[in-house]
Amino acid sequence: MPTPRPTPPDTGEVYELLRGVIDPELGSDIVDLGMVRGVESAADGTVSIKIALTTARCPLRGQIQKDVTTRVGSLPGVGSVEIAWAELTAEEKARTMGNARLRAAESAPPTAIPPTAKVLMIASGKGGVGKSAVTVNLAAELAQRGLEVGIIDADIWGFSVPRMLGIEGRLQAVESGEKKIAPKTKRVGRGEIHVVSMGLLVEQEESALMWRGLILSRAVQHFLEDVCWPTDLDYVLIDMPPGTGDVQMGLARMLPRADMIVVTTPAVSAQKVAVRVVNMGRRSHLRVAGVIENMSVFVSEEGKEYALFGRGGGQALAADAGVPLLGCIPIDPSVAEGSDEGRPAVLQPGPAAREIRKIVEQIVEEIVPPVEMQSCSARILEAAIANLDAVGTGPATG
Ligand code: ADP
Repeated sequence: MPTPRPTPPDTGEVYELLRGVIDPELGSDIVDLGMVRGVESAADGTVSIKIALTTARCPLRGQIQKDVTTRVGSLPGVGSVEIAWAELTAEEKARTMGNARLRAAESAPPTAIPPTAKVLMIASGKGGVGKSAVTVNLAAELAQRGLEVGIIDADIWGFSVPRMLGIEGRLQAVESGEKKIAPKTKRVGRGEIHVVSMGLLVEQEESALMWRGLILSRAVQHFLEDVCWPTDLDYVLIDMPPGTGDVQMGLARMLPRADMIVVTTPAVSAQKVAVRVVNMGRRSHLRVAGVIENMSVFVSEEGKEYALFGRGGGQALAADAGVPLLGCIPIDPSVAEGSDEGRPAVLQPGPAAREIRKIVEQIVEEIVPPVEMQSCSARILEAAIANLDAVGTGPATG
């Protein structure tokens, strides 16, 4: 008498086994990540599994396939394993990344940044695109709206945040049980900006260049772990070093809850390096919240436009990354002058200031609203009313 064939496995058992298949890029299992679309177990022992990947040409497909077949194939009753591949929809991709971020956050090392503060990493593919100027101006506009803003100047080789904000002096330690660094604070409108930077640690800008890479990455780690931030901080903006080196990856790993904003210039040819930054962010589970094009057309007083650095780069990058283009900041002498004089351009009238305000409006209203805004705290309400009052009464005439 032939031995009876074992019954085909229960789909629940298959799901359990699939929990052991880790997407190496996202660092979590494919069931948790929502990549398993369905499992069917037929009477003849064929198990069919539908798996959706982040992109159809995912280079890790081979590895996932091998893992799935060997694991599921080892179940009694399984004759063959068939995999149907699909691609996650934009919505599913967002959910998958969300799940992965949550997992990464659970295992991320702790930082001193208050959990209620929203973290925005301001990144760029290369230097000189105005990343620091954008960081400082976004921070100034957020503060002007009555919000408390921290800036971590992590652009350790090219730190310029203190100069752009007119902040001088040295960072001091505060004794509060354990030793912490007190950020330098500048009042802007009804809010404040609190800054930590290498520029506030070393004597001269040139001397930082002599520091070794390892010491510099340690400095950034200190800025994440040992700063005594105000507890009511609404945002922390991180002025990232350009590119995708070790310091950037370290920051991304330490702060998987961060949202990344990529600053780029209008030259379409320059977007290849910016795409690499987007990919690095995604690999570290960060949400890429949007693109800002800086140094867009210069508009003369007569209204004539000069596209000095080309056109369309911001739009091209945003489309490539599947994220919104938050705005295009024009070339405006007030940005360069303001940077040199420690007076962010957004605090004065001008075309760049107008665009920066629009970008901040989107950030605060929809892209990354502050935690207080979501629960409508009294403090924000108070600031909004005060702003309305200011608009209603116009500037004080003495
Ligand atoms: P990054 O941080 O990307 O290296 P910076 O923010 O230091 O670049 O900007 C480089 C230079 O360009 C600075 O002198 C800055 O003031 C100037 N700059 C940045 N954005 C603009 C703009 N929209 N219009 C005019 N000058 C700008």
